[in-house]
Amino acid sequence: MKKNYILILVFGFLISCSENNNQNVDFSIVIHGGAGTMEREKMSMDKELEYKKKLEEALNKGYEILENNGSSELAVIEAIKVMEDSPLFNAGKGAVLDERGEASLDASFMSGKNLNAGAVAGVKKIKNPIIAAYSVMKNTPQVLLISEGADQFAKEQGLHMVDNSYFLTERRKAQLLKNKKLGQLKDKKESTSAISKFGTVGCVALDKNGNLSAGTSTGGRSNKKWGRVGDVPIIGAGNYANNNTCAISATGWGEFFIRNVVAHDISSLFEYKKLDIRQAAKVSLEKVKKLGGSGGVIAIDKFGNYAMEFNTKGMYRGVKDSKGNFKVSIFKHD
Ligand code: ASP
Repeated sequence: MKKNYILILVFGFLISCSENNNQNVDFSIVIHGGAGTMEREKMSMDKELEYKKKLEEALNKGYEILENNGSSELAVIEAIKVMEDSPLFNAGKGAVLDERGEASLDASFMSGKNLNAGAVAGVKKIKNPIIAAYSVMKNTPQVLLISEGADQFAKEQGLHMVDNSYFLTERRKAQLLKNKKLGQLKDKKESTSAISKFGTVGCVALDKNGNLSAGTSTGGRSNKKWGRVGDVPIIGAGNYANNNTCAISATGWGEFFIRNVVAHDISSLFEYKKLDIRQAAKVSLEKVKKLGGSGGVIAIDKFGNYAMEFNTKGMYRGVKDSKGNFKVSIFKHD
């Protein structure tokens, strides 16, 4: 009798180990709402509070899921949804507009436990592109779907569809007008001015099972060329997750992040050069800067260490983890 009992205990222990071989790792969530040229003097107290409240709401949403044994996949999706639904950020409602005055959205999702990934680019009717990216990962053998095909796929999946006008806000229309004028002054080249504040949203999370996930969602860059796709839906550039290394979400001038394959570069620096996650993020952003680009990244490594690095004046960002870190910030010296 006693022998059987011990056998059952051992068997039970083995099963729980195989289902959950990393229990009790720290869990953690980090978000960003874009990096750019925001300056404390130019932002009212009320606006600052509004941003911080939304960042906190997104963080708390994801954290609660992780705390209640939910997956990092769900935590990332739910946190990003909060920001996509807010007109404050350049993703979902409130996204920047392309040269034709339309919102054209990119999003991607990656799961570190099996290197599965999904992304959509140039979509115009999906209320929450991050869910579409996740559906591509979960429900198709493809990784990236674009424009009308992606919109059609989302519709077939039963996702919430909206008219493109849903995304448009007066603020972004005004921003587009300014950028168009600036573009004319600069001989029709894409504006690199202070007006092109970024504002993409992203989230990385580590759950109690040791699974890392990353998601990123954006409207791209204001006054972008019709059909332009940035780094966000390019796996390894604007988004990457691998349980053996880390999860990364980027924001900034996408072309430079594509050319430097930033998210994967950080994972590689961590894996092969054995840099800690903050160093890895810094080194990769240095390369972006060297080529003339700017932006930022958030990352969590497999041990739960995090990084929120940027080479701009600020980055909307926040972290909440089981070690007791809880912070939202905007400016460099927050
Ligand atoms: N990386 C985005 C893009 O270039 C923009 C951003 O992060 O704000 O599409």
